[in-house]
Amino acid sequence: MPELPEIETIRRQLSEEIVGLTVIDAAIYLSKVIKEPSPGSFLREIQGRRISRVGRRGKYLLFDLSGGYLLVVHLRMTGQLVYESETAPQPRHTHLILHLERGRLRLTDLRQFGCVWLLPAEKSARMAQLAKLGPEPLTAEFTETYFVQRLKDSRRQVKQVLLDQEIVAGIGNIYADEALYLAGLHPGRRADGLSAREAKKLYRAVKEVLREGILHRGTSIQHYVDAVGRQGSHQDFLRVHYRAGQPCPRCGNPVVKVKLGGRGTYLCPACQT
Ligand SMILES: [Zn+2]
Repeated sequence: MPELPEIETIRRQLSEEIVGLTVIDAAIYLSKVIKEPSPGSFLREIQGRRISRVGRRGKYLLFDLSGGYLLVVHLRMTGQLVYESETAPQPRHTHLILHLERGRLRLTDLRQFGCVWLLPAEKSARMAQLAKLGPEPLTAEFTETYFVQRLKDSRRQVKQVLLDQEIVAGIGNIYADEALYLAGLHPGRRADGLSAREAKKLYRAVKEVLREGILHRGTSIQHYVDAVGRQGSHQDFLRVHYRAGQPCPRCGNPVVKVKLGGRGTYLCPACQT
């Protein structure tokens, strides 16, 4: 699933490419991706609106449109959002295309879980999915004090806390595994059992792995491509995630994969305690 670094990569690229462009019209090929309003209203409402800003909140992309509207896109498991020429071939599983005055924005999603909303901005402020998100981990709002306290208050496994979008927005399976490895913590540890030193180490690790992910334009393990259709490169820099059986970069023992809270979890049993 694309996580904060992947969505941020797409946001940065789209900011450069499509801000200032107007949506000429749209084509919906799979109506269930449009969560709000109805597909018919969506087509009518989006026409003629100019894209003034591309933002992000957690794993959500937010497009400010003229007339006080907001387009919200969540790529879920396998979604791809690509800005391309109108003459590019249209791949299978394309569910939505926005025809812009120059080029088009294409949403393709093998698993069909991607979601799109088009809302008046005042309504979007109340959109439950956005309103309940925790702080952005790479902003000043996400302080060490806040994070250490949230860990201390939780009896859950530390990995579950990292994945909880209401505690911190944007972290998924890849970067949770990587942050826990960097902090030397076993993902199954109880959050309230971490020492202050361990919690602070994890705080720094979270920021570090997300920054690295952005620097490498995201992680392409299966489906993720950036907004120009290219793979990211952070998969070449992963320390444990998706590396079962390969040597731990620190101690050389094999990385193992375990199930934790229903999620495949990668760790080094020697380095993470
Ligand atoms: Zn190790």
